[in-house]
Amino acid sequence: MELFKHTASQLHEKIIEKEISAVELTKAVLGRVDSVDKDVQAYITRTSETALAQAQAVDSKIQRGEKVSVLAGIPGALKDNICTKGIKTTCASKILATFVPPYDATVAEKLAAEDAVIVGKANMDEFAMGGSTENSGFFPTHNPWNLETVPGGSSGGSAAAVAAGEAIWALGSDTGGSIRQPAAYCGVVGLKPTYGRVSRYGLVAYASSLDQIGPITRDVTDSAHVMNIISGYDAKDSTSINTGVPDYTKSLVNNIKGLKIGLPKEYFVAGMDTEVERAINKAIEQLVALGAEYKEISMPHTEYALSAYYMIAPAEASSNLARYDGVSFGHRVEGNDIIDMYKKTRSEAFGAEVKRRIMLGTYALSSGYYDAYYLKALKVRTLVKQDFDKAFEQVDVLITPTAPTTAFKLGEKTNDPLAMYLQDVCTIPVNLSGVPAISIPCGFAAGMPIGMQIIGKPLGEETIIRAAYTFEQNNDYHKGFATLGEV
Ligand code: GLN
Repeated sequence: MELFKHTASQLHEKIIEKEISAVELTKAVLGRVDSVDKDVQAYITRTSETALAQAQAVDSKIQRGEKVSVLAGIPGALKDNICTKGIKTTCASKILATFVPPYDATVAEKLAAEDAVIVGKANMDEFAMGGSTENSGFFPTHNPWNLETVPGGSSGGSAAAVAAGEAIWALGSDTGGSIRQPAAYCGVVGLKPTYGRVSRYGLVAYASSLDQIGPITRDVTDSAHVMNIISGYDAKDSTSINTGVPDYTKSLVNNIKGLKIGLPKEYFVAGMDTEVERAINKAIEQLVALGAEYKEISMPHTEYALSAYYMIAPAEASSNLARYDGVSFGHRVEGNDIIDMYKKTRSEAFGAEVKRRIMLGTYALSSGYYDAYYLKALKVRTLVKQDFDKAFEQVDVLITPTAPTTAFKLGEKTNDPLAMYLQDVCTIPVNLSGVPAISIPCGFAAGMPIGMQIIGKPLGEETIIRAAYTFEQNNDYHKGFATLGEV
């Protein structure tokens, strides 16, 4: 099997056994990028030279007999809204097309400290607004399982890179589903941590009360390894949680005896694929056969979560994006006066979806409408959170589909924002309440991967990792590799 098809933990063994070198592995992944990225288009910026230098440094450490971490020398990708010192960070927006951050995000620093190799910066929906990566200001990314379909979004570049062998692991960010939904569409594993578990310092803000960085990997084991590295308190992020980080690999246990699982009936929305529904029901039967106790539960405010999100997220975004005004950094179009300059800069460089959200958000926050829209949405958010609190009095984890359908065709929903927003019905409530959730492959419909979401209690990452690992160990869905049209 080609090197780029292995998982990080498998490759780590090969590196420390000196079966392969980090440079050899990095060259294999860079070669894969060279041969398939013209079709997949996962990367905005490639960092091949620094990647090879990072790999070389790992090989030197190993030759000197030094102990290296599990991600040392393993090539991965960062979503292009994660700041990297000296490397362009565009958020897939024309407004930041030439922006080179003067500092590293905390997660990038942590990965560098573990000698991880960075292959490049992955494509995304502009400022993480979208669910298909078609809102990228540069080009869309294609799903490696079927190049005519979307990879999901907004971390579509990260998920597609991992699925296509163009990265062994990746980081994404998730505000309403942007790690889990592309992971589901691309047949890989995506984990959104508890809000505050991973530092957001250096993550370009979309909706700050919802954004969270997390891993996209080929299996649950790698997810646990990446979580060990990126989690933890950071004084530079005032919302980061100040409690110790467990060793998540200790939760890689194939045993869910007595685990209480709940299925919220409201998540089976109209418009859900029957194949998706069947796969989730089958997965639940299997979890029960493996020793879990099952209970159907009700989360009555689920149907309002999407509307609340599309008030709260644009409201926060409209405020966060005010800084892109052509003055301190980023793209600038000269005008007759400063207001004219603002208008021309923002009209020219923001894409249609970003403008739509700035307008929605500004409207929701404007005086006279604030109480009716924004404040109301915050109240709904509290009710949604209470649904989770009550559910977790009865069960340990909740199981739902990650998305109502499998990946759709490029262009299919671009003129229908509402249809696009509906892809996030199962993932958005999780962000509103701040709890962790993982998406793992659980089947296929017409050759396209289906994702199952396992939601945990606040800081319940260990439990969702154990449940996901147990499911994975008893199935082969994660072993399939996207063919990219090859036979
Ligand atoms: N698709 C959702 C949106 O468009 C979620 C995006 C995200 O999680 N960044 O807002």
